[in-house]
Amino acid sequence: MLNVDLHCHSTASDGLLQAAAVARRAAGNGVELLALTDHDNLGGLPAARSVADELGMGFVNGVEISIEWGGLQVHILGLAFDADDAALNAGLALIRSGRVDRAQRMSAELEKIGIKGAFDGAMQHAENPSLISRAHFARFLVETGVCKDVRSVFDSYLVPGRPGYVDHRWVTLADSVGWIVGAGGVAAVAHPGRYKLSRPEMRCLLDEFKGLGGQAIEVVSGSHSAENTTVFSRLAREYGFLASCGSDFHGPGESYVDLGKLAPLPQGLTPVWEAF
Ligand code: AMP
Ligand code: MN
Ligand code: MN
Ligand code: MN
Repeated sequence: MLNVDLHCHSTASDGLLQAAAVARRAAGNGVELLALTDHDNLGGLPAARSVADELGMGFVNGVEISIEWGGLQVHILGLAFDADDAALNAGLALIRSGRVDRAQRMSAELEKIGIKGAFDGAMQHAENPSLISRAHFARFLVETGVCKDVRSVFDSYLVPGRPGYVDHRWVTLADSVGWIVGAGGVAAVAHPGRYKLSRPEMRCLLDEFKGLGGQAIEVVSGSHSAENTTVFSRLAREYGFLASCGSDFHGPGESYVDLGKLAPLPQGLTPVWEAF
């Protein structure tokens, strides 16, 4: 089977490597088809594509859109779309414009428990200030010795019910799928195993997603357990969804799975790349 990785991040959002370096590392790890999927931003695509072309690796445009669904933050991947599409670009700009305000509110919450200077500290880690993310706050909290690593930050801070987490109005599922499909792309639910949803709630999300024109779900993901993969393989078959796979690589030492090092898609699924 083709070595495909359709989910990873560069410094154009909250990854640790420049987009060109991500593409080079992917090719070095044997990836044959790559999508760079930065959060809410298309800025890394030209550099990644140019390296992919140079190294003879297949490449499709990607993005990971932050939305709110049922009070949760959910991520929708867009794959193989036209990166010049005006409505998609305007929608992503709208999401980015909310991130700085949210970061200021996060910093104010951290200040209340005695953690000073988090906004400026997190910004030091963000190459693109409009993409300021919880991952940048996590790196600041590690750097200042509050936590030993990024994973423990997310156990104790920055998640619902913990200090540093604030509610935020992201865009809707309909917005995200509409923009992706409108730009000629395929929409996929990112790492569905990660959301704290009951089975009926998950079905509700998938029904709504499909009704809006969503075509794919991530079955194999760097943030999925083997059991998640089994559950979402079954749901992909049942719903007739295309199956996607991606490492969700953010950087060396910070990710569970490196670029191109995923398990293959289970048998009996239609790979999403057949639609590209
Ligand atoms: P944001 O888009 O600002 O809400 O930040 C979300 C980002 O934080 C994700 O894309 C990951 O990079 C990171 N993140 C979220 N949860 C975790 C976790 N449990 N462990 C490590 N990183 C996480
Ligand atoms: Mn991220
Ligand atoms: Mn995600
Ligand atoms: Mn991701």
